[in-house]
Amino acid sequence: MNTVIYLHEIFPSFQGEGLFVGKYQLFIRLKKCNLSCYYCDSVESREDGVYSVNTGKQGIEGENPVDRKQFFQLLNSFNGVDWMFDTISLTGGEPLLQNHVIKWIRDYYSLNQKKILLETNGTLKDELQEVISDIDIVSMDIKLTLDELKSPEKLQTFLDYTLEFIEIAMRKRLYIKIPITKRISPEIFTAAVSFIGFRYPKLNVFLQDVFDDGLTMKDIMDFYSIAVCHFDNVRYVPQVHKLAGFI
Ligand code: SF4
Repeated sequence: MNTVIYLHEIFPSFQGEGLFVGKYQLFIRLKKCNLSCYYCDSVESREDGVYSVNTGKQGIEGENPVDRKQFFQLLNSFNGVDWMFDTISLTGGEPLLQNHVIKWIRDYYSLNQKKILLETNGTLKDELQEVISDIDIVSMDIKLTLDELKSPEKLQTFLDYTLEFIEIAMRKRLYIKIPITKRISPEIFTAAVSFIGFRYPKLNVFLQDVFDDGLTMKDIMDFYSIAVCHFDNVRYVPQVHKLAGFI
């Protein structure tokens, strides 16, 4: 049984990505990830080290790991400001690697009726299955920059797995984010959106360019024009928190 978590940070801020852009939320960012995307903007969260908590009024630092009692004490520090957010955004790293924290959050916030939004890289379906009943919203990335996807067989295996993940996540409110970068080939992008869109054309899909990756408007339009042929609800939304300076 898992009795501790490796925490990176807790802070309230405006959501900068996906369906809930502009909503004020409490972010709980965990350490550890099973991928190593070249464009990762949370590299520190993948490494060991201390955690930090910023309530807006006070800052706290501490050593990992954190047990359930300590975690609840950290959440207590948001008493008085927690009326500002109705959603807890659980992010990382890859939070499903420490999925037992979802039950902790649900236990702590059940009386306050906060929603739990899981931000995940979409690669751990068994771990999602274990906790889906305690989640309200799933923000699922589809990572098309993985090197292994250049093999047609591995691409198909990845897409089959991705569909299974989507089927579990659809038990709750789901939206998809596809990070678009210069390293994604049109062939892989087309294969992915046509395969998933054929099965689930009504998914909310967000194309999000990687910050400072040098994509032009034409590059973005090329991705958009392919995606919109396969999904009813496609939006291009850049990382708003970075544009606004909340990095
Ligand atoms: S899945 Fe997310 S946290 Fe993990 S390496 Fe990729 S971008 Fe970074």
